[in-house]
Amino acid sequence: MIDKTKIEAAVALLLEGIGEDANREGLRETPARIARMYEEIFAGADENAEKHLTKTFIVENNEMVVERDIVFYSTCEHHLLPFFGKAHVAYIPDGQVIGLSKLARTVETFSRRLQLQEQMTHQIAEAIMQHLQPKGVMVMVEAEHLCMTMRGVKKPGSQTITTVIKGAFADDVRLQNIFFGMVKN
Ligand code: ZN
Repeated sequence: MIDKTKIEAAVALLLEGIGEDANREGLRETPARIARMYEEIFAGADENAEKHLTKTFIVENNEMVVERDIVFYSTCEHHLLPFFGKAHVAYIPDGQVIGLSKLARTVETFSRRLQLQEQMTHQIAEAIMQHLQPKGVMVMVEAEHLCMTMRGVKKPGSQTITTVIKGAFADDVRLQNIFFGMVKN
């Protein structure tokens, strides 16, 4: 899906646009370097989270599973600048669980593409509901957006927090509070 030739041409033009000489020593390799980098940081665009969420194990106890502090890096689709932070994911199994690393893989699938934090939080929760079919899912994402902190309002370190609550968590404040208690710093 990634067209490296187009990215290289676009970056060369971008460099000209900001008044640079795209042929000077330090910049000569930059378009190719960025094209290779984009291939990696946008790799999630061609990925389906289903592959991480359908290899399941049968369990007898449907106790809440929480994976906290999943570090992620994503790219804001409004500014093409990074936003990054931590995702916390919890679900209540309905007879089956997945390997813990798969929650982190799911976060990665959705973070490695052009994103909005609210949308990413939704997509993670929705994918788990759809493919693992647990009783409920809760996802919280805390992130710093460079488009807010290195320009504009300039509030370094400020965090944007988004939460999505689905299924059994939705109408159970007690369960929500257990989750919040577990992911609190
Ligand atoms: Zn932005």
